[in-house]
Amino acid sequence: MMKVFICPECGGMTAVSRRKQLFCHKCSGVQMVSPRLTYSKYIEMDGRQRKDYAESWLYIRKHTGNH
Ligand SMILES: [Zn+2]
Repeated sequence: MMKVFICPECGGMTAVSRRKQLFCHKCSGVQMVSPRLTYSKYIEMDGRQRKDYAESWLYIRKHTGNH
């Protein structure tokens, strides 16, 4: 089962299997979190859609104070 992860710093997204903790390869020491996005949705999205998703995810996260 693949799981989608997103970096709360740069919005970089990736999908991995069976990983509980994942750190962003760009932002050292930043632990990536799992958004409410299924892997099947993620693979249907193109680069532009992923970028849009990451941007709105970061925006919501920032503006709800959920750190
Ligand atoms: Zn990052």
